[in-house]
Amino acid sequence: MSECLFCKIIAGEIPSNKVYEDDRCLAFYDIDPQAPTHFLVIPKEHIPSVAGVDASNAAVVAHIFTVIAQQAQRLGLDSYRVVSNIGEQAGQSVPHLHFHVLAGRDMTWPPG
Ligand code: AMP
Ligand code: ZN
Repeated sequence: MSECLFCKIIAGEIPSNKVYEDDRCLAFYDIDPQAPTHFLVIPKEHIPSVAGVDASNAAVVAHIFTVIAQQAQRLGLDSYRVVSNIGEQAGQSVPHLHFHVLAGRDMTWPPG
């Protein structure tokens, strides 16, 4: 059994509030939302972070961005931010590639 939290969510061993699922990715609401709408999109394949993306697995990243665009449209989000933290200093706490989708409030730039 994988010790990875998000692999456990994919396997259904830990529940999640799903936004969307297909054979390649899962989208679910963040348990600690940082905006009125805050969900995560993850590949079903375990990739540790953006730093682990290469030619052999990049197709799922392109797929995830089509899912983000579709789900944002379905949820009526006309402005939103997509974020991926890579490594501890950037704030990554779960070592399974994920894209945060945040919407519903004014955002500052640059991010803190
Ligand atoms: P990061 O800190 O960028 O690695 O993002 C990990 C995100 O996963 C955080 O925003 C957490 O709130 C979120 N998270 C942790 N555990 C769960 C869970 N069981 N269900 C949903 N989101 C979670
Ligand atoms: Zn994983």
